Amino acid sequence: MSWVNFHNHTKYCDGTSDINDYVMEALKLKMKALGFSGHAPVPWKTTWNMTDENLERYLNDVAKAKELFGNEIEIYRGLEIDYVPGRTHHSSYFKNMGVDFLIASIHFAGVFEDGIPCEMDGPHGLFLKGVREIFGGDSRAMVEHYFHTTRQMIDSLDFDIIGHLDKIKIQNRPESPFSENEPWYKNEILRTLEKIKQKNCIVEVNTRGLYKGVCSETYPSEWILKIVYEMGIPIVLSSDSHAPAELNGFFPEVAQTLYNTGFRVFRILYRGAWRDVPFTPRGMEWV
Ligand SMILES: [Zn+2]
Ligand SMILES: [Zn+2]
Repeated sequence: MSWVNFHNHTKYCDGTSDINDYVMEALKLKMKALGFSGHAPVPWKTTWNMTDENLERYLNDVAKAKELFGNEIEIYRGLEIDYVPGRTHHSSYFKNMGVDFLIASIHFAGVFEDGIPCEMDGPHGLFLKGVREIFGGDSRAMVEHYFHTTRQMIDSLDFDIIGHLDKIKIQNRPESPFSENEPWYKNEILRTLEKIKQKNCIVEVNTRGLYKGVCSETYPSEWILKIVYEMGIPIVLSSDSHAPAELNGFFPEVAQTLYNTGFRVFRILYRGAWRDVPFTPRGMEWV
């Protein structure tokens, strides 16, 4: 019994450690597959995306790790790509670099007057600034924009996994009230899941908020995962690690919840193809 994880950040973007440090930790955990998903470059300055030069080094170094550790663990070379309409590269730009998989995630909602997109999962003060300056003080409009952009991304890009689907909920505090129970919010989620189903994407169940103590639930929330299950949408469990010690953060606990919901398989890259591999709360059942 062991886990896999396809959402991991190294020091080429905003992670703490080298590729090989993650591989060593994965070997200790007896993982059979490990995917790297560095933040792909965007054409404006951020503190966490790779630069173009770093991207090239990152891709080369993951390829080297594949060769070096190929007998012990399957290593997959991926990227976490962003989507800001008209601003970010198309997924084909990155696919042509020979990646094995792409995670598409929204980290920005709206664009400030100076042309810089507003980080949706950054500090709360920045979120409030975005609500004020881009959306006229209407936090619901910002959240609706976030999910609208998510659907646009699903329609226009070609990717495998949709990352932290409802991450904007970390901004859901008294000063910017929106409730996951409100009909309009549920409607945004349902419309987005329908689009995911149509395009046959994999929904990531991301544990980062849990082990970082910033959220009491996974991204997406449990009530959303129940609908994901009913709709027959495939899922994968990820920790979105930024340090080797985070490689399997909260996996047994979350796998138990997913198992109770009815899920029995994770869709993962294994032996070079996407497959549904059975799991229990103790780990993957390798066949
Ligand atoms: Zn992300
Ligand atoms: Zn990430």
